[in-house]
Amino acid sequence: MTEDEKMARIRERFPEIIARVNSEKNSDYQNISNREKLFFAEIFEFVQQHDKFLFKELFTAMSMSTDDIIKKSKEMEQSFNLKEHLLSSYLSLVGKNSAFENGIADEDIQYAPTVENLYMNYKYLSSEEAAGYEVTARQILDKITSAPGKANAELKRKLEKVTFKMKVFAGEEMDGKCQYDGKSGILTISLSEGCFGKHKDALGMVMSHEMGHFIDASGRPAGYAGKMGRSQEIYADAVGYKMAMSCGFDLEHYKAENRRKGGFFSERMNAVETLQVVDNAVRCYKTRMVRK
Ligand SMILES: [Zn+2]
Repeated sequence: MTEDEKMARIRERFPEIIARVNSEKNSDYQNISNREKLFFAEIFEFVQQHDKFLFKELFTAMSMSTDDIIKKSKEMEQSFNLKEHLLSSYLSLVGKNSAFENGIADEDIQYAPTVENLYMNYKYLSSEEAAGYEVTARQILDKITSAPGKANAELKRKLEKVTFKMKVFAGEEMDGKCQYDGKSGILTISLSEGCFGKHKDALGMVMSHEMGHFIDASGRPAGYAGKMGRSQEIYADAVGYKMAMSCGFDLEHYKAENRRKGGFFSERMNAVETLQVVDNAVRCYKTRMVRK
């Protein structure tokens, strides 16, 4: 098939493609199979190169929320306030933090679907290949839930009510993702192979960070589509930090690796470091008081 022929076929099927994109938005593209992801990734790239107008239409359809999603989420907001939820949970599990409060105040709630879910094609290891990693990850999780600390206890309580699934995807990067479906009660944590290899020193903190996302997600009404990208990451780092610190996990590798990525990753690590400085000061003060 020539490129022109391919483009003609895409144009022909375009309404069908858009209709599919629109229907899958409702579940934040979480039910797209890996095969379909390949299809969408190919269409995405091809149209981007060959027809700018069509691409704009495609990208708009992929990234814009439907009126229906916004309407449903706004209705939920009569009894649920995302900003309030993040703030009160942070206050209870981490403590008072005016930088976090200001960040929440400055950030708008977005209702856009997670576009990456539509075409990002993680190569998941088979359950046999992932078995060893899964044992390691579950040991880390056991450590987190049995360590002292308010966030650790909160996590333990919340995990008792869900089905926990663990997946490993190919890749050397330090990377993970947390998917929680409030309707089915299934929590899926996916970690890159790199988290068990090159970045094994960060595994405790990566797992804690993903569990921070779960604590946030499980406190939201099922089907709510509001997102606060920046604040959610800072929240997961802070709550994750508290849990990881309580276990004595290494934080330096996680911080160094994120700093290397720069930009917002680096900014996030400054926020973690501020928490560390405060905790260290408190610890020193307590030690001095004991000595007196
Ligand atoms: Zn995250």
